[in-house]
Amino acid sequence: MRRRIRRWPLIALWTVTLLLGAWVFLWPHPEAPIGVERRLVEKGYTPQERLTIRLTLDPGEVLALSVEPYRIDAIDYYGNPVYQLLSDHGYGGEDLTALSILDHYTALNLTQFEVMSSPQRILFDPYFLWTRFERYMALAEELPLASGRTLVERINTDRDFAYYTQIKPALGEGLSVLVNKYYALPSDFEPQPLVQASSCGQPTLQQAAAMAYDALCTAVKAQGLDLGSSSAYRSYARQAELYSYYVTTDGQAAADTYSARPGHSEHQTGLTVDLNAGDGSIGLFVNTGTYRWVSVNSWRYGFILRFPEDKTDITGYMFEPWHYRYVGIETATTLHELGITYDEYAVWIHESKRIP
Ligand SMILES: [Zn+2]
Repeated sequence: MRRRIRRWPLIALWTVTLLLGAWVFLWPHPEAPIGVERRLVEKGYTPQERLTIRLTLDPGEVLALSVEPYRIDAIDYYGNPVYQLLSDHGYGGEDLTALSILDHYTALNLTQFEVMSSPQRILFDPYFLWTRFERYMALAEELPLASGRTLVERINTDRDFAYYTQIKPALGEGLSVLVNKYYALPSDFEPQPLVQASSCGQPTLQQAAAMAYDALCTAVKAQGLDLGSSSAYRSYARQAELYSYYVTTDGQAAADTYSARPGHSEHQTGLTVDLNAGDGSIGLFVNTGTYRWVSVNSWRYGFILRFPEDKTDITGYMFEPWHYRYVGIETATTLHELGITYDEYAVWIHESKRIP
């Protein structure tokens, strides 16, 4: 009798231990309460999917997922806020997968625009600008097979408009000013001070450009070569004369490929010089040793070849091996490394900090 009475607490202890053990053993996951697990089963997630969900997502994300309808991309959707944002906005398939690696800020900006086909091709371009997003989209519709680089390059250089149809004031100022067929200087713009370089034909230029030209002259001569200047600073009035002369001689279409309309000439900035090899000829310059040396080394002195042979569709000018623009050594070095035109670079520098 005494022994039977004393056995009861032992049986009770064993029972409690067994129940506790079974409960711990059957507990699906310390971070997933039994209710969540049941809901996942009810939503239709397979055992394999449930295991992946529990191993991949945080408890809060699992909870969020468990109260929503089944989705095959649940892991991506609930595990990546960017994926969720863009999916909710309407992106899907390969585009959504590609875009899911965007940073949250970029993704958020993207949702301010309608869904487009493969926006990643432009978003991942290094010169992508939010300020021009809708124009990229419009051009992408016209050219569905164009690469992101083509789309961004065209739009950043305004070529969704014909030359001289969308004229804006010259971009930037000082040594960084951009003047081309879209950006113009006022007729009364005259850089100050204008000085004469002291060597190699003494072109008239802005002070910094004149000093750099003298350094270039010294370097060219050190190679046993010669350098001269055929034309440097030109006023608006002088450019107007020249342009109308070329139009009369060659017709406007031809003149526009080699001569700028007044206000659109870089020569008016006082930062540009047409080089020759000391013989006064720009036409033969491309065949000279001076050209070969200058075209490779001018950036070291702050000058860039402004209208290269392979960029005529961007610059709107035929290859002009003689036409050099001073932008300063730092910018010239950057351009030398990037290999893009000054037209694209200046716009990108100017607009890349702006948000949509
Ligand atoms: Zn020129």
